[in-house]
Amino acid sequence: MPESIVQQLRETRTLPDAELFALLESPAYDAELFAAADAVRREHYGDAVFLRGLIEFTNHCRNNCYYCGIRRDNLKVPRYRLTHEDILSCAKEGYTLGYRTFVLQGGEDPYYTDERVCALVADLHARFPDCAITLSIGEKPRASYQAFFDAGARRYLLRHETASEAHYAKLHPAELSLANRKRCLWDLKGIGYQVGAGFMVGSPYQTTRELIADLRFLQELQPDMIGIGPFIHHADTPFRDFPNGTLELTLRLLAVLRLMFPYVLLPSTTALGTIHPQGRELGLKAGANVVMPNLSPVAVRAKYKLYDNKICLGEESAQCRGCLERRVASAGYRIVTDRGDVRRG
Ligand code: SAH
Repeated sequence: MPESIVQQLRETRTLPDAELFALLESPAYDAELFAAADAVRREHYGDAVFLRGLIEFTNHCRNNCYYCGIRRDNLKVPRYRLTHEDILSCAKEGYTLGYRTFVLQGGEDPYYTDERVCALVADLHARFPDCAITLSIGEKPRASYQAFFDAGARRYLLRHETASEAHYAKLHPAELSLANRKRCLWDLKGIGYQVGAGFMVGSPYQTTRELIADLRFLQELQPDMIGIGPFIHHADTPFRDFPNGTLELTLRLLAVLRLMFPYVLLPSTTALGTIHPQGRELGLKAGANVVMPNLSPVAVRAKYKLYDNKICLGEESAQCRGCLERRVASAGYRIVTDRGDVRRG
């Protein structure tokens, strides 16, 4: 019997475009695909699920991405930023709850200059020397990335959003370019960061062709982390009338990514949990091995709304931690409290 395309992907970590089209467009392979992804994840990481404590520290943003709820032109969002002290106290609470990775995410907020970001990173690094500090604060010059690294940041999340130039131009205003986004990712890699790229599933104008371009770009970049989640429309953005990305396609892509990049750190995202009550559990079963519970103070959570109906807005950090622990266990995995560094090889 000829080898199935799922087995072929598992063994060679790649497939020709025609086979990728088939895998992404047909439900026929799903059962075999998810089983293979789970097996590969267990080979590399066992049943471990890594925690990243997400601190959404500012929703001020100078950019105007058409999909994003905190875009500059959305005048309905009450803007906030956490202070240095606020952020330290979130991290302290997270540390007590067992977190050993902190992700500082925000809009591109001019208040947070390189000096302020460096001071924050250095302070976190000094107080929590056994923790990994991850930044997700958008596009910067190489020198800024270097300064953050020198202050102690070791990971950076910057989704490429789409690897197609034409598609990028449909999701962003003209002042943003795919070329600069890619330049940032290569700079981050060159400096020595563990880098996370990624994209939304089902974003407006996306077809299978764009998704395959995303997979090809990731094969070139070889990131340590890949963040994907369904596009979810936000009522106060230009994309308010576009349909959301689907659970089915997101799960299929998670599984394909696990087979292409067996070592990769792959979160089961809040967006996936937003479009389906068991979305994150299903994501874990399809190959994901990271969850990113929210550590932001409850008072600001509803203001960091990138998309409508975002979950977990009312829960204290400790509740989030407990809830995820139960969800991860119900899917058949186990939360581990270590830094969860990438295991290449
Ligand atoms: N300013 C930072 C952080 C962006 S928020 C940066 O530029 O990297 C993190 C991710 O949320 C984005 O990269 C995007 O892929 C995702 N996102 C934004 N709006 C979304 C939406 N409406 N639905 C789903 N995901 C969205």
